Amino acid sequence: MTKHIHEPARETPVVHEADVLVVGSGPGGLAAALAAARAGARVALVERFGCFGGNITVVGVEGFAWYRHEATVEAGGIGREFEDRAKAMGAAVPESQSLSYELDSEGFKLVADALVEEAGIHPMLHRQFVAPVMEGDTIRGIVVESKAGREAILARMVIDATGDADVAHRAGAPTIKTPLEEVQAASVMFHLAGVEKARFMAGVRADPQTYKDWSSGEWVVETDGKEDDMFSPFLGKPFETAIRDGVIPAHLNTIGGTWGAVHDSGEMTYMNLVHLAGCDGVDPDSLTHFEIEGRRQAMHAIEALRRYTPGCENVRLRNFGMSIGIRDSRKIDALYNKTEEDVRQEGRFGDSIGIYAEFIDGYGVLIIPTTGRYMQVPFRALLPKGVRNLAVAGRAIGGDKMAHAATRNMACCAVTGQGAGIAAALAVRAGCELAAVDISAVQGELTRQGVRID
Ligand SMILES: Cc1cc2nc3c(=O)[nH]c(=O)nc-3n(C[C@H](O)[C@H](O)[C@H](O)COP(=O)(O)OP(=O)(O)OC[C@H]3O[C@@H](n4cnc5c(N)ncnc54)[C@H](O)[C@@H]3O)c2cc1C
Repeated sequence: MTKHIHEPARETPVVHEADVLVVGSGPGGLAAALAAARAGARVALVERFGCFGGNITVVGVEGFAWYRHEATVEAGGIGREFEDRAKAMGAAVPESQSLSYELDSEGFKLVADALVEEAGIHPMLHRQFVAPVMEGDTIRGIVVESKAGREAILARMVIDATGDADVAHRAGAPTIKTPLEEVQAASVMFHLAGVEKARFMAGVRADPQTYKDWSSGEWVVETDGKEDDMFSPFLGKPFETAIRDGVIPAHLNTIGGTWGAVHDSGEMTYMNLVHLAGCDGVDPDSLTHFEIEGRRQAMHAIEALRRYTPGCENVRLRNFGMSIGIRDSRKIDALYNKTEEDVRQEGRFGDSIGIYAEFIDGYGVLIIPTTGRYMQVPFRALLPKGVRNLAVAGRAIGGDKMAHAATRNMACCAVTGQGAGIAAALAVRAGCELAAVDISAVQGELTRQGVRID
């Protein structure tokens, strides 16, 4: 049985009060904070690390819209603004497989700083949410821990954009975790230096890989068929050869995946090659184990690239993402949980807060939106059961596994963030509960902010 200690009660100083408090600053939280501020609310944005951007900046996930093709239909809004602003600030390069720009994970820190400052958001970095402040079943704020100790921040509405539904979970809302044997793999991401770009690209052209090639080694990926012959920046053969030659241990046949961008300066970024099964994203012991294991596997991957990939003979590790990347952990049990049917069959909802292209990437399925098909995202999927005035934005919204394979994608997280932020700001203005907000007013403000909702 686990031993326990008793913590004495204490007085906690209230260091800030806001209309809308956003916890976590990934694509969901950053969009939520910007949208709420632009809708006139006083907004505070809390983040445990020293930069905004979540997986983009913390993990090094740069492929914001790698699904985009000629016919792809999207919501636009703040998600598109992230890309456009990054491009304007020199923090994005053309993405290799799509009609999009790949974000620069370091440069995006500056993009996010600028957006936060311009919107007049109160920035609160280096603070980790640890507990909700509750009045019955209504959330009134949060307690954070930092170098300053324990502090309270109060707010009329709270948006949980932690990715892991930390706030909802601790506030007592029911949450659901995918069983560990089915959970999407975690990844330790890294960036390289020392690539000879011309030779690397000549090698890619000489042996172009496709999405069909994803079904090799450990994985079988279900597609619609239309994806199979499309180009993919996939790297698999170097690792297969390395295993055959005994350079990589045979059990590491999960190494393989995609490269992101190759820069003229010899950097190759967003190396999505290490896939760690069974990582529990809300268990610090599991995270500790897989951070270390992931770094070990990344070095195996780099050794294989050096030996078997033209242009990579002299590569070296430039940096790891500052944290392991978690794709899948807790999700709320929402007032409406999105379903596989919704994401595969163009779900439509009266309380739509935005649309998202028919893009499914996860649990062994890859559907690329080359057709113009899209779904709507309902506001109710953001509202946890049992806690008032709390919304969830980002990858922890309500939905089944296949719905998550769609909604977890960053541009969809930005859609949910923008919807949550506007709903919270309008609920504050109307003096009503978040769940009772006038959805047509929310849709009006979304449209004013440039979001396509139908
Ligand atoms: C390796 C990897 C590759 C991926 N590739 C792609 C891709 O190519 N394209 C794509 O669209 N998606 C991709 N994804 C998925 C996508 O990155 C995530 O689903 C998305 O970033 C989730 O956004 P979010 O805002 O919900 O959370 P996150 O981006 O995870 O942001 C959450 C933020 O909350 C902060 N936070 C967490 N807990 C606390 C706390 N207790 N207190 C304070 N702050 C807290 C975190 O530090 C973080 O900044 C990938 C994911 C991974 C892990």
